Amino acid sequence: RAKRLRLGVQIYNDRLAYNSTIKVTLRSQLRSALHQQQFELYYQPKVVMSTGSVVGVEAVVRWNHPEEGLLPPGYFIDLVEQSGIVHAFTRYTLESAVSQIKIWEDEGRAIPVSVNLSAYNLIDGAFVPFVEQLLAHFAITPSLLEFELTESATMVDIGVSKKMIKSFRSLGIKTSIDDFGTGMSSFAYLRDLDIDTVKLDKSFIQELRPDSKDEKIVEGIVSLCRSLGIGIVAEGVETLEQAETLQRLNCLIAQGFFYGRPVPVTGIDALMSASQKT
Ligand code: C2E
Ligand code: CA
Ligand code: CA
Ligand code: CA
Repeated sequence: RAKRLRLGVQIYNDRLAYNSTIKVTLRSQLRSALHQQQFELYYQPKVVMSTGSVVGVEAVVRWNHPEEGLLPPGYFIDLVEQSGIVHAFTRYTLESAVSQIKIWEDEGRAIPVSVNLSAYNLIDGAFVPFVEQLLAHFAITPSLLEFELTESATMVDIGVSKKMIKSFRSLGIKTSIDDFGTGMSSFAYLRDLDIDTVKLDKSFIQELRPDSKDEKIVEGIVSLCRSLGIGIVAEGVETLEQAETLQRLNCLIAQGFFYGRPVPVTGIDALMSASQKT
């Protein structure tokens, strides 16, 4: 039954994606959805390609909508960001992620979790104190938490972003630049921001073929990041060929459908115990 429902949602939403009535409806439901805890984090593994071992997970949000079924963020993240609830929303996703880190740590598993931030979080003066409180409340190892910031989010105010990333670092939290290479001044970010990891955008991966321009670009970014001491994760890896090419280019960690789609927390638990057995 769940399967049929989800399929229905997909068709329904593709058809109505540009129907502003549904957007108005969803927008009006955001606040109560948050209170009723209809938002749920799914987790997608980041994997060392040569061994298959999971080195962390990215948390991506889903909306368990009572009528529409499971909605991916493409249908509501922009609404969240345009409405007044973006701060409460991120606090909710962040608290979910941190409490999950805590659950795993209590089970003796140190699993790094990355959380996506909005541009608006970076200009919120109350954000860092909130994060600090959260870390204290759940008493997690701070380095297990990572924030993913897109280039466009950091671009809103590069000076403020720089300060925020410094604050994150002083709390022990890691920072990565998401969708790397899609912005206008990617290299300036590597220079100006104190980041731990670059997530190479899937647009570079999907057409990755031997002797292609994308291959040269990926090779260049990988060697640049290495020389700067910045980690690199390839996003959107869907095929064995892409995985093999990436490893040949010295890019060793990947996230993508080839290794696993985002799944509810139970799915990650199953994956982790399977990968520990081998
Ligand atoms: P993103 O941060 O770039 O997240 C990765 C997206 O790529 C996810 O889509 C994931 O399902 C998809 N993906 C992963 N592997 C592959 C692959 O091999 N091939 C392809 N074609 N796609 C792949 P999702 O979950 O629909 O999220 C879309 C975007 O929504 C995210 O992009 C992120 O920008 C935003 N988002 C998700 N969760 C949150 C959140 O909690 N807060 C905020 N502010 N934004 C979020
Ligand atoms: Ca991300
Ligand atoms: Ca991304
Ligand atoms: Ca993206």
